[in-house]
Amino acid sequence: MENAADVAEPANAEAEPVSWCPSGAMDRPESLVLGVRSQDDGSVAYLDEPVPASEVLGMVPEGIEPRRILRFASHCESSCANRVGTECGLINRISAVPAPPHAAAVPRCHLRPRCKWWQQTGVEACHRCPAVSTLMLADDHLGNLVADPATTQEQLDSWIASAEHTAQA
Ligand code: SF4
Repeated sequence: MENAADVAEPANAEAEPVSWCPSGAMDRPESLVLGVRSQDDGSVAYLDEPVPASEVLGMVPEGIEPRRILRFASHCESSCANRVGTECGLINRISAVPAPPHAAAVPRCHLRPRCKWWQQTGVEACHRCPAVSTLMLADDHLGNLVADPATTQEQLDSWIASAEHTAQA
């Protein structure tokens, strides 16, 4: 098997190190499988070693959207709709949602040394990361709100406040 870490490094040794998106694309030349959504609650079990997405996509049964069962990582790009300056707005929105009462343990993760979310938010990102789905389902209103780059902090605060109000009613 090709060494994915070697594929990932920039060709120019003097270039800035590339940060990686842990909720990335599955079809880029550098795309890697980050983990498998195999737990009972759909959260991610992380692979010990990076595996090129191109080696796995052909094994996904026809009719199944690969992002329903796998999480992919690819380069963090300045053209991404989630970029806010040099930051990733997605992990900022995810972090703005109150953490579940029992936060997930920090997983062992092969991406950490080059992960944009880790670089930006530290261990807080790793607590939230296993529950992140790159493919949002139609009935996941909060997930879709968080995933939308146009969502403002005010909109998130409003949704959270209304959810808390509903829970207390
Ligand atoms: S946020 Fe943490 S657990 Fe998720 S990919 Fe980055 S380093 Fe790994």
